[in-house]
Amino acid sequence: MPDPNGFLRYDRRLPARRPVPVRISDWREVYPPAGEELIREQATRCMDCGIPFCHDGCPLGNRIPDWNDLVRTGNWDAAVESLHATNNFPEFTGRLCPAPCEAACVLGIGGGQPVTIKQVEVEIADAAVARGGLRPRPVPAPTGRSVAVVGSGPAGLAAAQQLARAGHAVTVYERDDAIGGLLRYGIPDFKLEKQHIDRRLAQLAAEGVQFRTGVDVGVDVTAEQVRAEHDAVLLACGALQGRDTLETPGRQLRGVHQAMAHLVAANRVVAAADDGRPALAVLPDGTPIDAAGKHVVIIGGGDTAADCLGVAHRQGTAGVHQLDLYPEPPQTRDAARDPWPTWPWVLRNYPAHEEGGERVFAVAVQEFVDDGTGQVKGVRIAEVSVEKRDGRRIVTPLPGSERELPADLVLLAIGFEGTEQQPLLEQFGVRRNARGAVDARPDWQTDADGVFVAGDMHRGASLIVWAIAEGRAAAAAIHSYLGGVGELPAPVDPARQPLAAR
Ligand SMILES: Cc1cc2nc3c(=O)[nH]c(=O)nc-3n(C[C@H](O)[C@H](O)[C@H](O)COP(=O)(O)OP(=O)(O)OC[C@H]3O[C@@H](n4cnc5c(N)ncnc54)[C@H](O)[C@@H]3O)c2cc1C
Ligand code: SF4
Repeated sequence: MPDPNGFLRYDRRLPARRPVPVRISDWREVYPPAGEELIREQATRCMDCGIPFCHDGCPLGNRIPDWNDLVRTGNWDAAVESLHATNNFPEFTGRLCPAPCEAACVLGIGGGQPVTIKQVEVEIADAAVARGGLRPRPVPAPTGRSVAVVGSGPAGLAAAQQLARAGHAVTVYERDDAIGGLLRYGIPDFKLEKQHIDRRLAQLAAEGVQFRTGVDVGVDVTAEQVRAEHDAVLLACGALQGRDTLETPGRQLRGVHQAMAHLVAANRVVAAADDGRPALAVLPDGTPIDAAGKHVVIIGGGDTAADCLGVAHRQGTAGVHQLDLYPEPPQTRDAARDPWPTWPWVLRNYPAHEEGGERVFAVAVQEFVDDGTGQVKGVRIAEVSVEKRDGRRIVTPLPGSERELPADLVLLAIGFEGTEQQPLLEQFGVRRNARGAVDARPDWQTDADGVFVAGDMHRGASLIVWAIAEGRAAAAAIHSYLGGVGELPAPVDPARQPLAAR
């Protein structure tokens, strides 16, 4: 029986982040481990309310009140088991999820303090490692059926693990030189150290999953070859087509880049250092890209922009402006606009924001300014108002509001336009829809029979928790397509949307 008064005795508390001057001098994670006393106290705040709305907030349907109570009572092994029953990779979500479950926590009604669900989750995930490691599960007798998973992000890996555990032979194809998708070279180490991925991959490999890196499906092997080798295919290629601003004067200048170019280059340097190899942050063509000593302007307000900000600080930027088209959101939930338990539009402060830089809201770039040699030297911005008319976004500059910001490096973090247009699509006979995503039928198959889709490639750029949920659900559909015995868990269907009032 959970403690019904825990939330009255204890306030919401998170562990202190490492001090800014210390953490920006390395690439290690921002949060230290919380410590057992704090985490048991915080788990005690969960009152196991009759209808746990947090379940609906979490796309995985994580059994949050169950494992909160197991942590409260010090039953760590059972908590590890309960958490892994619904989530293949809680060490990723516990570190990186924006926690829609917390927005749906009953303790958050009326501006209250939700349970620190995500923090409890990561502590359970880390306890699994500390208490004997991520032991592989015993694999059942082989079914004789084989599945190709294209793309090794969280969607592909979750599906691969589920299918291997059902006895199917699984091969994951990844065009990059390492497995992990955006977790590997997109998300910086200060949010997710890569040892967490490597540990999980060792478990998958021990459970029988085969990995083939450096294989661009559609280029290095054809869809026809993949289909001939396997009984089913899951496409989990992400939504990596970065949005651009080609119409803005000066876009072609040196020093104006897609944010991902900056992140991938920086993350590769960290990965090389971890292997004891010196490296420079360079673009694929060898051009250096680094914020050291430079004035940086980041355009965009989401995860990618915040990650660029943290990277710029660690590289030794001379100063950063982060620009957002929209006005500054409120600090707290506007209950009329986003009633509990939906995901609210509020100002999100990432740890990178307390490390420095200036956020500028309600502005749009009018021009990237040339220094006379073809290199960017500044960004001319104007204050703007934004409204929606007939579903279209209308951005109106305010006359006389223009000013220039210094900029030696400009990073475009203005979102993604769906999955990349690449040979694989035509070869498998699947098409991008108007959003640049690939549609799935209710059983997760694309227009091509036996070819399934999951994760960002289906949903559009989203979150790790959705990628894992879709990977698990697509695996269940593939298992049934292959005539597998019994059913695998399917936490979402292809039409499932986040909790929203509008
Ligand atoms: C900078 C950044 C920061 C983010 N931070 C967060 C965060 O803090 N929290 C959060 O929840 N979400 C975050 N996200 C979103 C999250 O990373 C994605 O939603 C998630 O990774 C999607 O998983 P996926 O498996 O669908 O695809 P991805 O992780 O994108 O993986 C797709 C993989 O497919 C491979 N691939 C593509 N085509 C081929 C091919 N033809 N052959 C072989 N391989 C191929 C790609 O190389 C890639 O490795 C962030 C995204 C970005 C860009
Ligand atoms: S995966 Fe995300 S939404 Fe689900 S319990 Fe963890 S933090 Fe909450």
